[in-house]
Amino acid sequence: MTAPAPSTFPPAARPLAATPPVAALIAQINAYKMDDHLRALVAAGSRDVRHAGHAQAVAYLYEQLRAVPGIEVQTHLAAYQGQRLENIVAIIDPLGPVPPGGWVLVSAHYDSIANRTPGWDPRVTAAPGADDNATGTAALLEHTRILAANRSALRTRVVVAFFDGEELFYKGSADFVSKLTKPYAYKAAINLDMVGFNPITDRLDLLWYLPHSAGLRDRVAATNQRYGIGVSPLNPLYASDGSTIMDAAPFGLAGIPSIALCQRYGGNDASFPGNSTFHTSNDTEASVTNRGLWLKAAKLTLAVALELAAE
Ligand SMILES: [Zn+2]
Repeated sequence: MTAPAPSTFPPAARPLAATPPVAALIAQINAYKMDDHLRALVAAGSRDVRHAGHAQAVAYLYEQLRAVPGIEVQTHLAAYQGQRLENIVAIIDPLGPVPPGGWVLVSAHYDSIANRTPGWDPRVTAAPGADDNATGTAALLEHTRILAANRSALRTRVVVAFFDGEELFYKGSADFVSKLTKPYAYKAAINLDMVGFNPITDRLDLLWYLPHSAGLRDRVAATNQRYGIGVSPLNPLYASDGSTIMDAAPFGLAGIPSIALCQRYGGNDASFPGNSTFHTSNDTEASVTNRGLWLKAAKLTLAVALELAAE
């Protein structure tokens, strides 16, 4: 983490007053639906790629996404050390022509791991991954539903990516980025990872990747204010390399403006006691201690995506 750098992100094309469409659309995020998705994902037992529950979670994601009218659902396969990785991508296009660039990507990883559990065997050890990262995955399912039903609000493509293999050092998202053609069609990549734990505050860290992501960082902070979403504190953290191990990293390192929202990256402090169940069999629904924060994270992500896609 080093000093912030000047923004190279293009300024907004239109005045950044709060607009009723965005405010109305983020209000459509249904916390009960997010709960249902989280429970279904946790019910798989584990979403570790080496565990049979992974396929159950994949089937659930396809079932949910294929029930959404008006979108294209794609499968992007990758491999890592003999393991099959399956990125699942929902394409949501405007009603008019799709521009060749200026696309917006929203991502979360759906895989899980329990390598901090004593005696860990990825094939059999439970890895419910409720906070990490059924919270982000469930939010993305709501984003997909709302965006698909409101394609008239879009001027460009929104890609909602459910990445696999993040727990294997973001191999799924890295493979996805490696297969993109240049010039990149994406103007922004927004990642949600662990957004449901903090019994003290509605805090999120805002990781931003390299100087070209400074403008996107500022947009996220301004959007939090503009719509009164209430993430507080929202802490910017500069990321200069991939050691953060987040799906935002490969996008940022490739030169795409990229940020990640996370309840806390790094060590504990007075506003964050730390989720001790992280990467254990105990990351169950009970570890999602702050459902208000979870909802705020989902709203903030959707608001930023809607604003960027409407420009
Ligand atoms: Zn995670």
